[in-house]
Amino acid sequence: MKIAIVGTGYVGLVSGTCFAEMGMEITCVDTDNRKIDSLKNGIIPIYEPGLEELVKRNVEEGRLHFTTDLTSCLDDVEVVFSAVGTPPDEDGSADLKYVLDVARTFGRHIKKYTVLVTKSTVPVGTAQKVKAAIREELDKRGCDVEFDVASNPEFLKEGAAIKDFMSPDRVVVGVESERAKELMTKIYRPFMLNNFRVLFMDIPSAEMTKYAANAMLATRISFMNEIANLCDRVGANVDMVRKGIGSDARIGNKFLYSGCGYGGSCFPKDVKALAHTAREHGYTMQVVEAVERVNELQKSVVVEKLQQSLGDLRGKVVALWGLSFKPETDDMREAPALVIIDRLLEAGAEVRAYDPVAIPECQRRCAGKAIYYAQSPYDAATGADALALITEWKQFRIPDWTRLQAAMRGNVLIDGRNIFDKEEAAAAGFLYRAIGK
Ligand code: NAD
Repeated sequence: MKIAIVGTGYVGLVSGTCFAEMGMEITCVDTDNRKIDSLKNGIIPIYEPGLEELVKRNVEEGRLHFTTDLTSCLDDVEVVFSAVGTPPDEDGSADLKYVLDVARTFGRHIKKYTVLVTKSTVPVGTAQKVKAAIREELDKRGCDVEFDVASNPEFLKEGAAIKDFMSPDRVVVGVESERAKELMTKIYRPFMLNNFRVLFMDIPSAEMTKYAANAMLATRISFMNEIANLCDRVGANVDMVRKGIGSDARIGNKFLYSGCGYGGSCFPKDVKALAHTAREHGYTMQVVEAVERVNELQKSVVVEKLQQSLGDLRGKVVALWGLSFKPETDDMREAPALVIIDRLLEAGAEVRAYDPVAIPECQRRCAGKAIYYAQSPYDAATGADALALITEWKQFRIPDWTRLQAAMRGNVLIDGRNIFDKEEAAAAGFLYRAIGK
């Protein structure tokens, strides 16, 4: 089976590679020449565990190709997946420019029945806009080629993307025709030989499912952050509270961790876009809007705790461990670290930062800012008055406390992800402060 994937970012590259791994012949398309050139030369533009070897193998075995031109493969494929970006517009809505560009190119060039599947996260109603854009292009050509649109929102997590894609909890597919449903079944059957969990539904429900899932997860985070902030004020321990409520089967124990806020390419923009869709329909989603506000405030909690411990931050040296929005990725889109860095620099502090993979990305995003990028966690801590843990990479979990003490000038330790043992840190002489315990 031959498939084209348009947009070769986190979602497109992972999806394309995993489809190829299952024996399909995949062409990944991107308008970014540099990205496609790198991929053709075996250079993977993102850090995602396990991806590089999978890309290499499938390229070598002739199942994975890269191009900047969708039209070069359109005649050969049965299905085109669109996995282009849907960044937030100024008003918080999802910008559909790239999604509609793909639809127009598709409409201008298809010659036979093909399905255009939207994998990008798009608001309810987008499939209708995609369909209209294709029709308009076909009308301009004066031809009536049969096509279908479908919705297949992606639920992979960066950092565990291959595993998530290869053995998904479920695959959600919105379709309007039996023909499209059959093709989608054929594509996903290899991923679920033992237990076929493709949930077929109407397209608006599929589009809404993705936003509802992300909004629910973001809500759990903001909810726990508020509980943690109150724990701080009343002397309770959010870790205990989490265990206490998580053992209730109705609540469940996943995604109940407090910290310094969520970031990434999905939760922030999807929560905003969902609230925007509601407002467009004359409805205000009170909970969803509060989730976003709480998260924005939470990104500053680490800086507030530093101020409470150190007083005026002018001239103080602060070490940051972790920059990416979560471990196992170099993605810094909407990362709390960016807000924390800016607030520290504004307050006159000196920033020494370390991350196992995200330093180049931080250098790109923070070009011109006076940040010292360290070679190791202990290099970052050298001469620091305080250390703040921002991203819970595994290698930070059991620090050499003696070495850390010796490297630092002060002893303030702010645990922005609640990963350290309070007693252990205190026994090593640290003034330990976490989020809600
Ligand atoms: P990304 O920014 O990493 O990649 C998007 C790619 O699309 C870019 O390489 C860009 O050059 C390319 N592109 C834009 N217009 C194009 C066009 N007309 N033709 C060809 N290529 C084009 O984005 P991403 O993180 O992969 O996200 C893509 C979509 O998937 C978004 O809607 C996102 O919300 C959703 N999503 C992302 C994740 C995630 O973890 N990153 C998870 C689930 C869903």
